[in-house]
Amino acid sequence: MPAPADLGGELIGVPEGADLDLDLRLESVSEGVLVSGTVTGPVKGECGRCLREIDDSLAVTIQELYAYENSTTDDTADEDEVGRMQGDLIDLEPALRDAVVLALPTNPLCREDCPGLCPDCGVHWDDLPADHSHQQVDPRWASLTQLTRTEE
Ligand SMILES: [Zn+2]
Ligand SMILES: [Zn+2]
Repeated sequence: MPAPADLGGELIGVPEGADLDLDLRLESVSEGVLVSGTVTGPVKGECGRCLREIDDSLAVTIQELYAYENSTTDDTADEDEVGRMQGDLIDLEPALRDAVVLALPTNPLCREDCPGLCPDCGVHWDDLPADHSHQQVDPRWASLTQLTRTEE
């Protein structure tokens, strides 16, 4: 199934049209159909620290009840809580969207310990020497800083 548009968040998500792999089981229950299983697909995004491209994959579990039209559940439950069958059809997209958004990180990183970019020159810390620094403190200013500190 090709991924619908806007599946994910601003920084990271499943690209529109990407190949989603649905491994779902449909179970008939008294009030409707219970859909459960996993959906896997590719994820693309941008590292929140260094803006590098993130190429990942995602697997989400879905378990959602779709009530038959005119069933008790249809009468008593809110449509936001329990999905509805539309005739013989199930609109999986809202459940999928919820599951994917929940599974995605709000602050995506290219890797757990991404050091990010040097705020002064914008170069990735990975590409900079360990002692990289832009601080050239004038000795006079340095003593002034010290003075201020003592006064506190
Ligand atoms: Zn990064
Ligand atoms: Zn720098």
